[in-house]
Amino acid sequence: MKVFKFGGASVKDPAAVRNVSGILSLYEGEKLVIVVSAMGKTTNKLEEVVKASQNRDRKMFMALVDDLYAFHMHIMGELFQEKHYAVYNKVEEIFEKLKERFSEPFPDNFSFEYDQIVSLGELLSSHIVAAFLFEQGHSAAWVDARKLIRTNHQYQEGNVDWKKTEELMNERLLPEFQKVDIQVTQGFIGHTDEGFTTTLGREGSDYTAGIFAYCTNAESVTIWKDVPGMLNADPKWFDNTIKLDSISFKEAIELSYYGASVIHPKTIKPLQNKGIPLYVKSFIDPHADGTAIQSSMENDHLVPSFIFKMDQVLFSFTTRDFSFIVEENLSDIFDRLANVNAKINLMQNSALNFSILLDRSKVDPLKIVELFNDTYEVRYNEGLELVTIRHYDQATIDRVTENKDILLQQKSRQTARLVMKDKG
Ligand code: ASP
Repeated sequence: MKVFKFGGASVKDPAAVRNVSGILSLYEGEKLVIVVSAMGKTTNKLEEVVKASQNRDRKMFMALVDDLYAFHMHIMGELFQEKHYAVYNKVEEIFEKLKERFSEPFPDNFSFEYDQIVSLGELLSSHIVAAFLFEQGHSAAWVDARKLIRTNHQYQEGNVDWKKTEELMNERLLPEFQKVDIQVTQGFIGHTDEGFTTTLGREGSDYTAGIFAYCTNAESVTIWKDVPGMLNADPKWFDNTIKLDSISFKEAIELSYYGASVIHPKTIKPLQNKGIPLYVKSFIDPHADGTAIQSSMENDHLVPSFIFKMDQVLFSFTTRDFSFIVEENLSDIFDRLANVNAKINLMQNSALNFSILLDRSKVDPLKIVELFNDTYEVRYNEGLELVTIRHYDQATIDRVTENKDILLQQKSRQTARLVMKDKG
């Protein structure tokens, strides 16, 4: 059995849903779990619905719900000839449930209510996709991820109970393959032991695909995207990007750690643990090879990868009493930074200095100065960029540092990191 994941962009309109059906025709007769995200930008819209409900703004709530209703009805109108299909009842029912939530007072637990509302995007999308596949003659059925993925009560960021989930999948999912080839389910959602819906965190559908694969010992996972595979850099910052044909799980985790928006490490871990390969393929060109992420590290060094983080601020802390920066100061500095939720992109220290690099969009430099003012003298430098090069050589460093001043650099055997500023 294989697990396929189709994200929001791959089901964003009627043509996209038709394309999914076309792709599945290439896998005729295979057993497949299809994990789908909410259609297009539905999740963002549902987040606004939650806000409107919390603010008790009925007008806004209804306007947003009406928009979402029209969006889904339009897709269904194009996909289905007949309006009496059972899927229309399902969709109506989901919208009724959504509207009813406004008549109840907004609960104290925001995250709980968030999950009950935002999860509806995946329910809508999976019902529509399953019905369309069935109508197109695929041997397909809808399956409820809320009856399969068990989590704890951490709403908005549910932690998976792997043992229970495995049990549920063995009991409820796998036997169904005796009747159908394709089971269509929802990404991003799970349930608690009392049956309340939970979500797994934004962008959680890739993770869902990993959970299904791990718990069923699937043959592989394929994530269908609007790119040819994983590229060695973000085309936004880099010309002549190269597709990575094959990299290891370890390399994929390293790349995402440094900020490449590839696959979330949460998705990779369960697959790595069981050696289940992950393919990233293009839904526009389904015959093309894409990228394979698997155990072998053989090809990791073949293509250097570049990860850019723009708009960085470099802070440097010096003790006021001219004492060395040692373990005690470091733990004090980390404590204070953790308290303001600062995420460090890079750090370096010398005898009297400790430097950290943070995203400018997430911090107010003056607040950081204030936070440390009592013990440290803090200086900062804005408008910087951080480039990380995996499998670097001198030519790749020269390429990214052209017309730049380098403020700081770190090199290990595989990785070079450069903090730079435009030459001015
Ligand atoms: N629909 C969810 C989101 O947009 C989950 C996903 O698509 O991965 O975050």
